[in-house]
Amino acid sequence: MRRKVTKPKGREFYGDFFALPLVNYLNEKSPDYGKLVSLIHSAEKLRSALRPITPREIRRLNALTHTQLPSVAQIREMPELRLIDLPVRDIPKSGQEKVVLHETYRINSILREIPFSPSLWGVYRGRWQMEWSLGSEIGGMVFSVIRLAVDGALWRLRECERPDCRKWFAARKTIQRHCTTACRQAVYEKTEARKKQKREAAHKLYHGDD
Ligand SMILES: [Zn+2]
Repeated sequence: MRRKVTKPKGREFYGDFFALPLVNYLNEKSPDYGKLVSLIHSAEKLRSALRPITPREIRRLNALTHTQLPSVAQIREMPELRLIDLPVRDIPKSGQEKVVLHETYRINSILREIPFSPSLWGVYRGRWQMEWSLGSEIGGMVFSVIRLAVDGALWRLRECERPDCRKWFAARKTIQRHCTTACRQAVYEKTEARKKQKREAAHKLYHGDD
């Protein structure tokens, strides 16, 4: 049985290994920036179209995809597995399914542009040790997006909601909307100031200018 590893809180976060280099790449606005952003946006639309996946389902999903391709019956049981190309006639045509199909198609068309090739880097006790060879930096970044999506950690990649910032960051909590405390406070103060202004205007209107 595998021992549970507990790491100290507040230092490293799930998915940091892939999320942090992605954040740097996105903020540098490299030439393939647009392609990566479309991929992340499509993945986000796909994620919000599906109900949240449970840890139990993630374990089942990993067990299945690491051994063999699931059967159609298994895919029907698990909506998340519909990501795998299915004949269109097998999928119901509700609004949600349309979003899933559309975004899956868009994601696959971006992925097809990235050259990935399987590569053998060694043999350990008779077992092949494989990895994906990526021809370019964008290839590595796309691979990181895929890893985060597979691990259910893609939600961490976000753009700061402060209008004059919009920097990419790796969120540590699902409620985090801003890249730094400074940005969060700036937005908060702005809204508070506006509220106060409104209150004062209403007060003036009611009581007159005295
Ligand atoms: Zn910010």
